[in-house]
Amino acid sequence: MTKSVSRRDFLKMAALTSLSISIPPLTKSAGLLPGARGDEQNVLVIVFDALSAYHISLYGYSRKTTPNLARLAEKAVVYHNHFAAGSFTVPGTASLLTGVYPWKHRAFRFENGVAKPFLTKSIFHAFDSYYRVAYSHNPHVVRFLSQFAADLTKFIPYEQLLLTGTGLVQALFQNDDDIANISWSRTMVKDEGVSYSLFLSNLYKMYNENKVKTFKSYFPIGVPTIKGDDHYLLEEAIEWLKNEIQAMPQPFLGYFHFMPPHDPYTPHIDFFGYFENDGLKIAEKPDDRFASSRPFELMLTKRKEYDEFILYLDREFGRLFDHLESSGVLENTWVIFTSDHGEMFERGIQGHITPAFYQPLIRVPLLIFPPGGTARTDIHSPTSAVDLLPTLLHVTGQKTADWVDGVTLPPFAPSAPDPERNIYAFQAYRSDPDSTLKQATGMLVKGKYKLTYYSGYYDELGADGKLVQLFDLESDPEELNDLSSLEKDVVKNLLLELKEKYAEVNEPYL
Ligand SMILES: [Zn+2]
Repeated sequence: MTKSVSRRDFLKMAALTSLSISIPPLTKSAGLLPGARGDEQNVLVIVFDALSAYHISLYGYSRKTTPNLARLAEKAVVYHNHFAAGSFTVPGTASLLTGVYPWKHRAFRFENGVAKPFLTKSIFHAFDSYYRVAYSHNPHVVRFLSQFAADLTKFIPYEQLLLTGTGLVQALFQNDDDIANISWSRTMVKDEGVSYSLFLSNLYKMYNENKVKTFKSYFPIGVPTIKGDDHYLLEEAIEWLKNEIQAMPQPFLGYFHFMPPHDPYTPHIDFFGYFENDGLKIAEKPDDRFASSRPFELMLTKRKEYDEFILYLDREFGRLFDHLESSGVLENTWVIFTSDHGEMFERGIQGHITPAFYQPLIRVPLLIFPPGGTARTDIHSPTSAVDLLPTLLHVTGQKTADWVDGVTLPPFAPSAPDPERNIYAFQAYRSDPDSTLKQATGMLVKGKYKLTYYSGYYDELGADGKLVQLFDLESDPEELNDLSSLEKDVVKNLLLELKEKYAEVNEPYL
């Protein structure tokens, strides 16, 4: 038991364990879950952190990383050119949750939350008549969820789905609330039962160490971890979620943000070595201006581990989906599969903490599974993470959110998508959110063109600190030919539009 688990959480956990056992699994014929209100539909958003569309076989990657997703896609709307709004967790997730671009919500830096006006402008606020529940493995996302806590019916503590989090409750107390209650007081409250406390805390430490050790043989590179000793198993989180969903009042909005395939990449033994010596062909790309000179061989190894880690989440998502389908939950639930940003292993850049904005970092998967869906639809027009919130409100018949930058996604929107619509992404991880934009990377995708504008990077880019790149994503999806010196008019127009945006969002901070 970690010190941060409150007495209330402890009892809740004990109660949850017994609840999950006492509720019988639903049969397919059950249709709506108990407590469903008329024809209202649930929403279940599943985010896998740092999952790049570039590395997903469903989107054309030559390694077969997502056999389950490919199978399930036959019942989904599949978005092929979906862009995160930022290239790391903070801006990316904040945009997913608020429906606005980072320059508005101002979550720029690692320790930033969203700006004050957005505390009541989240997906949880928009679904205010729903039972709203959220969990994240990623502490940066936990910060946002804490900010939105007033709009959450149930905020699952970070510790709950760690391997070292709640196991002791289940193992020692066997669902007996009364014993759990007394034992908690004696363990956690220093004034009561000191000797008992020492005994239990030692036992707990041993239990945790052994629990992690137990799973070492299943993970050759290491048991999945978030930071330090915060180990987790995706299997355990998925089992917990299966039970949680069955016990939830309806209609519900669930947001669940899981760590894989975020680094450290720790493939399960079933997938470790799966892509070893598979002869993967990679387009050769020169080192970037923002390269951190990673040896090519190391990048190949890391890429292989990342790809094998994707197989793990693909299996677990498949397992969750199959369970929800057979238990009848999907009859009246929208399921969303997406990510907060991507990851890259090329041009001398590995990971996602970089000023660069190449496609592997910024293009993410989006699959929307409509309730009872039986057919596949493919959407190729560019779409953005900020579109998810207005789309979910639209398809569930909720009132629109008047603050969002996004639009209702095809095919759910009443009119066809504008092929020349502007899609932005933005990051400024070294900038002060309470000031005008000093150092930033901005992206504007319009039709086939992608313009990237770097500004304020004096150390990396020299005297004026600026760089503009232009790629034709249709003819050059690998971004090998920078057209900025050839297509001068296109650059001029797109850059003007992007700079107008900067001027607009700078205004309140001048
Ligand atoms: Zn992330």
